[in-house]
Amino acid sequence: MTMSNIKVSVHEGDSVELAIGSTVREALEAILSNRQRKQTVAAKINNEVVDFTTVLTADTVLTPIKIDDAEALEILRHSTAHIMALAVRDVFGENIKVAIGPSIENGFYYDFQRDEAFSPEDFEQIETRMEEIVRSALPFTKTEMSSIEAIEKYGAKKEPFKTELIQDLGKDTVSFYHVGGFTDLCKGPHVPDTSFIKAFKLLRVAGAYWRGDENRDILQRIYGTAFFDKKALKKHLNALEEAKKRDHRRLGKELELFTVQDEIGPGLILWQPKGAQLRRLIEDYWKEEHYKHDYELLYTPHIARQALWKTSGHLDFYGENMYSSMAIDDVQYQLKPMNCPFHIGVYNSNKRSYREFPVRWCELGTVYRYERAGALHGLMRVRGFTQDDAHIFVRPDQLEEEIFNILDLNLHILKTFGFDDYDIYLSTRPEKYVGSDSNWEKATKALKLAMEKKGLDFEIDPGEGVFYGPKIDIKIKDQIGRSWQCSTIQVDFNLPERFEMSYVGKDNTEHQPIMIHRALMGSLERFIGVLIEHYAGVFPTWIAPVQARILNITDSQLDYSEKVYQQLRKAGLRIEKDIRNEKLNYKIREAQVAKIPYMLIIGDKEKADGTIAVRFRNGENLPAMSVEDFVDRIREEVVSERGY
Ligand SMILES: [Zn+2]
Ligand SMILES: [Zn+2]
Repeated sequence: MTMSNIKVSVHEGDSVELAIGSTVREALEAILSNRQRKQTVAAKINNEVVDFTTVLTADTVLTPIKIDDAEALEILRHSTAHIMALAVRDVFGENIKVAIGPSIENGFYYDFQRDEAFSPEDFEQIETRMEEIVRSALPFTKTEMSSIEAIEKYGAKKEPFKTELIQDLGKDTVSFYHVGGFTDLCKGPHVPDTSFIKAFKLLRVAGAYWRGDENRDILQRIYGTAFFDKKALKKHLNALEEAKKRDHRRLGKELELFTVQDEIGPGLILWQPKGAQLRRLIEDYWKEEHYKHDYELLYTPHIARQALWKTSGHLDFYGENMYSSMAIDDVQYQLKPMNCPFHIGVYNSNKRSYREFPVRWCELGTVYRYERAGALHGLMRVRGFTQDDAHIFVRPDQLEEEIFNILDLNLHILKTFGFDDYDIYLSTRPEKYVGSDSNWEKATKALKLAMEKKGLDFEIDPGEGVFYGPKIDIKIKDQIGRSWQCSTIQVDFNLPERFEMSYVGKDNTEHQPIMIHRALMGSLERFIGVLIEHYAGVFPTWIAPVQARILNITDSQLDYSEKVYQQLRKAGLRIEKDIRNEKLNYKIREAQVAKIPYMLIIGDKEKADGTIAVRFRNGENLPAMSVEDFVDRIREEVVSERGY
């Protein structure tokens, strides 16, 4: 081997001798077969992702990234963003300014500055041009230049956004990628050429501030997605369509569950009667289940002295999420972002003994947290919400068993709502933490053992625990396979210390309890948002805000309809009546749109027989039955769904 040659090999594959300064592209072209190369998107050198443009200066082992590897889609999608920008400039001219174009979860975007708004017709034009570019199999190439030269070349006038980025990077040299006639400041990596982009779709356009700053230019952000094959794209587009149908904001409006109004304030939920009913049913079930599992219920206030939040550490560690203080009798108070200090207040109101442990207290506690206006989203992200909170105080020897109990109740309640598929994560000690190493070790082990005993698979998130203790997070999967973070179980060594909590042990001396924070649903708002999407608004009978609607055929059954209505209401069923002078088919259609489980149709025959004709929301007709039989049927159904 001469001095100017290097040896490049493919991990567990062939090798080749090349001139120093050769690229990954040259190496892989020499080593891989054509077929293999078409499957290869980029490569890794010692776990660092590089693309085909990377220059090799020493002996190297390359690990190809194939199209079905995890990193490949990200590379593809980011590359597609470049292609979209190239197409936008080809179609609408060079004077359109480009900002940034990263890959994101499930796709990519690119931000443009253009005077006119992008229209659906523009999308078609851009996509057509992208198709042409993809077919041309244009390679991605790379150049490096000094930042000074780059700013001179592209200039604030031509590329103001890129110029600002280069200035902020503050590096001596920057890299540019070229594809077709489009040059973009980028560190890569990209696919070898545009022919890898087999399937893509532009999805929507939205306004986005340059660098997320409301005082800067507002740009147009075009979102899109890309895949390595058409089938995968089609599957994704179908899933998007399905998710759109289930959007809880749309369904919440149609089913009259909740409303958010600017006049009231963004992120503040008004529950309409039907949504309030749904929430009441969930709350009642939650309270009953907790009572059965040996919890006691607490109620605590919405505000507290600022000094309390100082003691708890919230002001120092969580201050930016809290609302400003208010003076009451010259003392500062603040809205609560969490319920924990109040439960501690209840604990400290009495002397505690080891005999009463575990102490299990739960509360549907309404908290207020600051969220940026742009982050607010229906019921999913709000500014005031009710946590299904609980705090459990245990002795160290009780921790494992108690975690087992919590998991048991947690999974039982989730199952009742139809969630029996989930991913569980155990987060361990982060770099900054409080509490002794041995306590952390014991607590982490207790969490692990409890999950193993429960037969649960879990993943470990190393270093992702909260500073005050390890935690378990549960992500549930809904009916269309989407994941939602909801339950969390957290061990806390910090607050018992800060609030000088204690109990008298068997040895008659004072000890510090271990505190567990736990929420099953997370917040009622978010959980109900997830439930609406999970069920697509078609709630099971036990939580359906309205279980049945009475539909009379003509006015001659008005009196009998009223009698049935009163009878069913007295039996505790959730009933509505539609006695308008409308055609029956029209009334049926409306009840179906309202997704009410049962329609009770009353005509002359039913009136004469003293029965009701029962129709299920899917159109299925049940035999005519007495009111008593219908009540029994609903009660049985509720028991089978809820468990009692
Ligand atoms: Zn790029
Ligand atoms: Zn707490």
